[in-house]
Amino acid sequence: MEQGARQPPHVVIFPFPALGHVHPMLNLAELLSLSSNIHVTFINALSIHNRLLRCTDLQSRFGRFPGFRFKTINLGLGDGLPHSSDDIMAVLKSLRTTAKPLLKELFLLDNCELGTTDKIIGQVPPVTCLISDGILIIALEVAEECGIPTFHFRTSSASSFWAYYCIPQLIHAGELPFSGNDLDTPIANVKGMESFLRRRDLPSFCRVDNLGEGAFQCVMSVTLSTLRTKGLIFNTFEGLEGPILDQIRVDIPNLYTIGPLHAHLKNKLASESKGKSISSNGLWEEDRSCLKWLDEQPSRSVLYVSFGSVITLTKHELTEFWHGLVNSGQQFLWVIRHDVIKDKDDVLEVELKEGRKENGYIVSWAPQEEVLAHPSIGGFLTHSGWNSTLESLYEAVPMICWPQLADQQVNSRFVGEVWKLGLDLKDTCGRVIIEKMVSELMEARRNEFLQRANEMTKLARASVSEGGSSTRNLDRLIQDIYSI
Ligand code: UDP
Repeated sequence: MEQGARQPPHVVIFPFPALGHVHPMLNLAELLSLSSNIHVTFINALSIHNRLLRCTDLQSRFGRFPGFRFKTINLGLGDGLPHSSDDIMAVLKSLRTTAKPLLKELFLLDNCELGTTDKIIGQVPPVTCLISDGILIIALEVAEECGIPTFHFRTSSASSFWAYYCIPQLIHAGELPFSGNDLDTPIANVKGMESFLRRRDLPSFCRVDNLGEGAFQCVMSVTLSTLRTKGLIFNTFEGLEGPILDQIRVDIPNLYTIGPLHAHLKNKLASESKGKSISSNGLWEEDRSCLKWLDEQPSRSVLYVSFGSVITLTKHELTEFWHGLVNSGQQFLWVIRHDVIKDKDDVLEVELKEGRKENGYIVSWAPQEEVLAHPSIGGFLTHSGWNSTLESLYEAVPMICWPQLADQQVNSRFVGEVWKLGLDLKDTCGRVIIEKMVSELMEARRNEFLQRANEMTKLARASVSEGGSSTRNLDRLIQDIYSI
């Protein structure tokens, strides 16, 4: 680098090691690399990174950016993925010791020389700022110690963040915690959600039976730590969560709503003719045969069923879904991950194994974004993970929601009651109700949901188009990084 020449900024991006967090933050990393000559160091857990390397073409996706590199952390927890709150706590505990030395090294070294293993030839400028997953307090602490400005990125919906943010008021008003009974009792102290939020729509850790020791304290300190940052990034758009975003802005004025990120990235790649989006983001190998099967099905006739990358189901729950789906008579495409079953000693029934069965087709991992964009898909039975929700609404696919944890309960309430994009199957899992809901979504109320879904899709597409709110907010984020 010439003496006196201004060096480009260098951003460290650090997600929590789970697919639902890594996937949108990788999309942001690619957008930053495409839109500017910002250097990006992406910190990934070794277990996740190795899986991504096996299943995704990381080299062609990121190797073309000279300023991009990965750094990995060995969590020392094997290559299993977090499935429960205990697993998540174990990861957070491990990061407290394993992430610290790497972060310090990155933040304190000026112009570090890098070898080819870092995928960067030459020098990397000193770190300008950190974009950290909002749940990684350790990253913020080290950044503060080293004087590095931090932005938080919350990979959940803004609405669920807001519900977490209101936990102190809920405790103060005696609305938290609550028992597993009377789950339809309204919740009055989450501003902006008074008219529709019930106990059952709050994250499951709010229920006394699931309440881990110190859980509220931990969630509160994580959520409030965002007040110490320069701003908060959300994978959402103004047209979707505007009223709740306005509530958040009262306390955290600097929000960057830049989603849906998967679509934002696709648009950017298309508009700059910089190649096709690499849609494979999985930790498992995609079974693309399902796309061929979908090609043979009539328009809008297939229900896509997937519960994301984290949650596990009991054999009983899987069986109820199987009978409900088969009895509905609707065609379905179902993702049953190899590690989906809760009890390690249980084995999957033969009808739940991969292949074509009854009125369905089963795969262990699907190219979900492509599946949802396929004209044969007419509905999505989902666990309401935030990425799945955004991917579905972007393609105008109505949903049946079966949420289990974290932000999923809040998301599904918004899908059913606020955005009216589908049905909320929360807290039940019986074949009769499943069959009824599938018929309602795919037949009886199909037009009503499709109309709403089309309206929402238009808003989503406008937000990531030229001049749209998410496009402008990404530009603002880049400018703010440059001005540090
Ligand atoms: N996904 C996929 N193939 C599948 C199932 C899921 O590519 O068969 C992707 C999906 O597109 C989404 C992510 O996995 O981007 C799941 O994230 P989400 O936030 O919905 O749920 P989580 O896995 O975090 O519970």
